[in-house]
Amino acid sequence: MKRGELLTLAETHYNEEQLLELEYAIDFASNAHSRQKRKSGEPYIVHPLAVAGILAKWDMDIDTVIAGVLHDTVEDTGVTLEQIESLFGRDVAFLVDGVTKVGQARAGMKNLESYLPQTKDNLSKLLIAVGKDVRVIIIKLADRLHNMRTLEHMSREKQKKIARETMEVFAPLADRLNMGRVRVQLEELSFRYLTPKDFSRTKALLDSHLKKSQRKLARVRNEVARKLTEEGITFEMDGRVKSVYSLFKKLDRYDGDIDQIHDLIALRIITNDLDDCYLVLGVLHDLYTPLFERIKDYVALPKANGYQSLHTTVQTNTGQIVEFQVRTREMHDYAERGLAASFHYNEQKMTDAYKKRHMAELPEHLHWIRDLQETAAKAGKNTVIDSKKFRMNLFHDRIFVYSPKGDIWDLPYGAYPLDFAYRVHSDVAARTSGFRVNGAMKPFSYKLKHGDTVEILTSKNASPKAEWKEYIITAHAKDKLRLQLSRQNRNLIEKFAGRLRIRSK
Ligand code: MN
Repeated sequence: MKRGELLTLAETHYNEEQLLELEYAIDFASNAHSRQKRKSGEPYIVHPLAVAGILAKWDMDIDTVIAGVLHDTVEDTGVTLEQIESLFGRDVAFLVDGVTKVGQARAGMKNLESYLPQTKDNLSKLLIAVGKDVRVIIIKLADRLHNMRTLEHMSREKQKKIARETMEVFAPLADRLNMGRVRVQLEELSFRYLTPKDFSRTKALLDSHLKKSQRKLARVRNEVARKLTEEGITFEMDGRVKSVYSLFKKLDRYDGDIDQIHDLIALRIITNDLDDCYLVLGVLHDLYTPLFERIKDYVALPKANGYQSLHTTVQTNTGQIVEFQVRTREMHDYAERGLAASFHYNEQKMTDAYKKRHMAELPEHLHWIRDLQETAAKAGKNTVIDSKKFRMNLFHDRIFVYSPKGDIWDLPYGAYPLDFAYRVHSDVAARTSGFRVNGAMKPFSYKLKHGDTVEILTSKNASPKAEWKEYIITAHAKDKLRLQLSRQNRNLIEKFAGRLRIRSK
C-alpha cells in the first residue's frame, strides 16, 4: 500500500486533525524505514502502511491506526519509544511498545521451546505477554494477516513455519475475539501453504459442488425473499460459502462424503431487530420442513466468543436441504469483525442506555467484553487512562487444551474431559468410553489442566449416562447431554410400548 492509498482510505474514517497526525506518522515511519526492503524487493514501508490500512478498514480508533504505521520502527530501526511518545502521545507509544514486546516475547518463547519441545502452551504465553491492551493483539492480527498475504516471497521452509504458527496461534486467537472474517482468512492462507495438495483438492471439490447447489439455491432464495416481503419484514439476504479449510475439517468427520454436508452455502438473513429474527424463523419453518434437531439458538446461548445468530436447517419441497443463519445487523457485524466491531460501536453509540440494554444481557463469561468496551469508551473520550484498568487479562478464566492432532480448544477453568468432548462434537461425546490425557488414562472426574492433550476414546456400545451430569460444567455440554438423555428415554419408552402392543395382541 502506498501513502496516497492509505490517506484516501482513511479519509472516510477519520477527521481532519486525525488525518494530519496520520500523515505525519507516515512521513516519520517512511523516513525511519527508508533503507530497508521487503523480501519482495519493495520498500519496507509498504508493509506498515498495509497494516495500518487493514486497521482503518476494521474501523479501529486513530491511535491504533497510527500505531500500525509505526509498529516496526522501534524493533527494526533506530527510533526510540521516547521519540514516539513525544511526537504521537502516550497512547500510541503504549501500543507500539506492546507490539514490540509481543515480538520479543515470541522470540524468547522459541528459545524456550527448543529446550522444552513438549511445551505447548505458547498461545497463552503470547496472550499473557500482550494481555495489557487488547488493541495490541488486534494490531498483531493485522500484521500477521498482511505477512500471510505476502508469504509467496518467502522460502518454502519459512512459509510452512509461519503458516503453522498462524494456524496454531493466530487463527484461534482471532476466533477467541470473534473476528470471524479474519480467522477464516488466516486459516485459508495457512492451509494453502501448509498442505497445498489438500487445499487444491478440497477447493476443486467445493467449486464443482457449488456450481450445482448455487443454481438450486437461487430458487429458494427468491421464494424466501418474496415471502418475507409479503410479510412486511425488512431484511437483507446473502449467501455464505463455506471456507475451504472448514470444509476440509468437516469432510474428515463424514468420511470424505461431501453429499453429507448441508451447509456448503448457507443463506444469511439480516434483519433490523431481534423480533424480526424470530419472525423470519417462523416464516422459514412455515415455508419448508425444519429438521428440528438442527435449530441452533445462539442468541439465547451465544458461543463462548460471543457469536450470536439463529441457525436452522430446512428441507424444501424438492428435497433440497438448506441452512439459514438469521441475525440482526449488529450481531452480523460482531460475528464478522468481533472485537474490532466493538470499538466501532463504542464510538458510535455507546450511550449509557445502550450499554445497559445490551450489556445486561451478556452472560458472565463474556463480561470481559463489557470491561473492554468500558475501557475503550474511556480511552475514546480522551480521559486519563487508569493503566491498571487498562490491563486486561482476557484469558484468566480460560484454559487451553489440545486435541491429539494439535487443534487448540479453550474451555473454562475447572472443565472436565467430557466438556472437551462435547465441545469437539456431541456425537463423539455420546460414545465416550474413556479419556487419555497426555498419553495416560484418566477418569471422567479428572480436571483438565492448561496445556493438556486430550484424546477421547469411544466405543460403539457406549451411550450417555445420567451420572455424566456430575462431570461437566459447561452450559453447552449440559444442554447436549440433557437432549441426548431425553432422546434416549423416548426411544426406551417407544421400544417398551412396542413390546406391550405385541404382547396384548
Ligand atoms: Mn510487521
